[in-house]
Amino acid sequence: TKTVTDVICPFCGTLCDDLEVVVSDDGKKIHEVYNACAIGAEKFLHSQAKDRITRPRMRQEDGSWKEISYEEAAEYTARMLTDAKKPLMYGWSSTNCEAQSIGSEIGELVGAVMDNTATVCHGTSLIAVQDIGIPSCTLGEVKNRADRILFWGCNPAHAHPRHMSRYSIFPRGFFTGKGHTGRKVIVIDPRPTDTARMADVHLQVEQGRDYELLNALRVAFKGKQLPDVVAGIPKEQIYEAAEMLKSGRFAIIFFGMGVTQSLGKNHNIDEAIAVTRDLNEYTKAAIMPMRGHYNVTGSGQVWGWQFGFPFAVDLSRGYARYNPGETTSNDLLRRDEVDAVFVLGSDPGAHFPFSSVKKIYDRPSVAIDPHETPTTEVCKVHVPVAFVGVEVGGCAYRMDNVPIETRKVIEPPEGMMTDEEFLKRVLARVKEIQGV
Ligand code: SF4
Repeated sequence: TKTVTDVICPFCGTLCDDLEVVVSDDGKKIHEVYNACAIGAEKFLHSQAKDRITRPRMRQEDGSWKEISYEEAAEYTARMLTDAKKPLMYGWSSTNCEAQSIGSEIGELVGAVMDNTATVCHGTSLIAVQDIGIPSCTLGEVKNRADRILFWGCNPAHAHPRHMSRYSIFPRGFFTGKGHTGRKVIVIDPRPTDTARMADVHLQVEQGRDYELLNALRVAFKGKQLPDVVAGIPKEQIYEAAEMLKSGRFAIIFFGMGVTQSLGKNHNIDEAIAVTRDLNEYTKAAIMPMRGHYNVTGSGQVWGWQFGFPFAVDLSRGYARYNPGETTSNDLLRRDEVDAVFVLGSDPGAHFPFSSVKKIYDRPSVAIDPHETPTTEVCKVHVPVAFVGVEVGGCAYRMDNVPIETRKVIEPPEGMMTDEEFLKRVLARVKEIQGV
């Protein structure tokens, strides 16, 4: 065996870069994964599953699958996209930037709507950032400088398990040599989560009342009078949390879907950014979204360069339009405004409302994914591909917008294509069909 070091974990937005993977001498089998959390290690081990699907397949009339070649799958995909008036090309969060870039080229040629998983998680954060900007930093700065950590509406103990040991609560950095003993942790969450159990202060906000509490914090910073109870929290606790934040040398606010997808949506994030700005009157403060999929941040970056918008980009008129609520996947599906669905590197079958999933089932559809998922089960064609970050490298963006080159650890099963290779084939075929 041999050990591949400095491996990047292609699971969550923390993109841990210190994994060690023991592989067979011929580079075809993974024996052990060190340093990863349980969910990260599982991603590597999943590529070794004996029942893994390694060839594309097409759904038959009777519901069974028929194996087809990559050539046939590319032909179906290219025809589906060129025949459609307005195809939806969704996902793009669990793949590399190289594949995202080719996908954008296809989307532009066929006049697709390009949308990524931000549409159901941090899309509201992106809207808020466009509204009022964001004072942010890198995870390295958090590790080396932050002594006040606020987790709002997120539960890294389960969703980003090594975030706390590598970057936020526990690590010893240049100016944070005492590790967790030198830090104060505040958690704001309606539930007593495992992250909340580690906090110095847990503010158990009433469900959906984050906006009020954010506002109250701004009032408390200024030492002004608050009502006795705000969003279910006694004012004494709010003053205590405000004082804790102000008294630090460097405060960081991490926020998750508890704030982005609850009542108030992007206005919650406007207000959370305003809290960060206010806090900068007293100390240094920054704010960062806890991005989920390992490269959802990258798809926002790639589309940002190419189209000027990070998600929900409608190219059907020949130029980029962006209007969340109108050009977002679920709104388009529910209003029957798209007539074909292409999914890559995400699982709307598991995460979209049933009414949207049914619309995917009713349309010509392709799912490109290494796994069998609820999405592959409702699509007409499933194209299995190599695991990015395991069987092929490529660029991914960490939650703090730092680009990191993922590593190839083993060879994919013989004859399997990568996302990028398959998309290049589809692109070539689309160009042939369109005569461009
Ligand atoms: Fe992978 Fe995230 Fe776990 Fe790090 S915290 S090992 S990136 S799943």
